Amino acid sequence: MTETPERPRLHRICRLEGARPRIDPRRAGSAGEAEEIATGHPRRDPRAERAHRLRAEMRVPEPIPDRPRLNPRVDLGQRLRRELREADAPETATAVRAAPRHRIIGEPTFWVAAVSLPFEPWPGAEAESLGLARRLAGDAGGVVLIRLGARAGARDAGALGADRLVQTTDTSLAALSTSLSAFPARHILFAEGFADGDLARRLAVRMGERPAAGVLAIESGRVILRGDGGCSDLSRALPRLLVLARNRFDPWEGLPGEGRGIAAPDPVITDAPDDLPLIETITLPAVDVPLAQADFILSAGEGVTDWPVFHHLAAVLGAAEGGSRQVCDAGHLPRARQVGASGTLVEARAYLAFGISGAPQHLQGVQRCRLIVAVNTDLHAAMVKRADLAIIADAQEVMPALARLMGDKA
Ligand SMILES: Cc1cc2nc3c(=O)[nH]c(=O)nc-3n(C[C@H](O)[C@H](O)[C@H](O)COP(=O)(O)OP(=O)(O)OC[C@H]3O[C@@H](n4cnc5c(N)ncnc54)[C@H](O)[C@@H]3O)c2cc1C
Repeated sequence: MTETPERPRLHRICRLEGARPRIDPRRAGSAGEAEEIATGHPRRDPRAERAHRLRAEMRVPEPIPDRPRLNPRVDLGQRLRRELREADAPETATAVRAAPRHRIIGEPTFWVAAVSLPFEPWPGAEAESLGLARRLAGDAGGVVLIRLGARAGARDAGALGADRLVQTTDTSLAALSTSLSAFPARHILFAEGFADGDLARRLAVRMGERPAAGVLAIESGRVILRGDGGCSDLSRALPRLLVLARNRFDPWEGLPGEGRGIAAPDPVITDAPDDLPLIETITLPAVDVPLAQADFILSAGEGVTDWPVFHHLAAVLGAAEGGSRQVCDAGHLPRARQVGASGTLVEARAYLAFGISGAPQHLQGVQRCRLIVAVNTDLHAAMVKRADLAIIADAQEVMPALARLMGDKA
């Protein structure tokens, strides 16, 4: 075997220079091998030596401590026992559960009051009033809900955002004034309904204040409300008394308030004529509900010719009657029932338009309705385009069919 030419050359060069050889691992098989070649001594390998030592030690292996295996049942038992201990020592438990579950207000800088009566003017009216009250109160203020009169199925006041709750069986203005005297309020909120709105206005007279009625929004510290007979929106400085329009404000969905019940003070009865107690609430037949307050409207235009069936359908559906200007001009419906720019601007949840073309003046009156159903023979009528649901058919055929669907036997 002949030697590889590199190794003798490396050896020779080192000898000639008389110095410790520089090792080139690329040329030698490994660094250790190259050094061995250069020096003629076997090279020590500390790593190999340490590994050897360890192997020797491992002949008598040290006991490795067993890691306890997790047992979910045992863990659950421990957790339950800990929770029971915490329940026995409530102070410790409170300290551990630091997160607050509702907002607790001691003595706020000011109060905002929401007033409600036994019958809500619309479902969720009290929640909407409290939602706005909570926002007006902000961090510094407190919200008090004054519930006048017993109400079945009332919601938890705290969850609706109230910090305090005054509940009375008395619905009179005297009871309201006395309750308010315990909570001098920066703002007092009512929902715009028959009884609530009436109470708000009587309170305004008693306090000598000008309320904002039909409040649509609060923007930059000003109140936006319907004015000019409902034809335009007005803006004015935020007053103390606010009467809210329906479905305009979101209920409170943030951290619940404490909703702490406060005993209602005894009302101070005076001889003032505005201390009128609410004795009875009479429910109007749906057809007699004023258009501006109606939630469900059956409306007729020139396409309706069978008027007895129209009136009958309104009674079966429990809807208020409305109509276009044409039919009011023709005397089929009273002027108070005209829907549109020169009639009433309606805000119904459902508006059924039978045989109405959808002229701009009429559409202006229904723009705040939630759901519009049009019945028309003309597929291209503006009312059909505006509607959420359209039935292209003769109104005279759809009306009795709809009554039958509602279970009408006549
Ligand atoms: C200053 C001013 C103010 C106005 N203000 C108002 C207002 O406040 N409110 C208002 O309503 N109007 C108002 N108008 C009038 C408006 O312009 C229209 O003339 C009116 O709305 C039309 O009424 P209509 O849709 O009933 O009749 P038409 O326009 O004659 O429409 C009749 C509709 O019925 C359909 N039809 C016909 N036969 C049938 C059938 N058998 N079955 C089903 N559908 C059928 C037709 O296809 C048509 O779409 C105002 C006008 C002016 C100038």
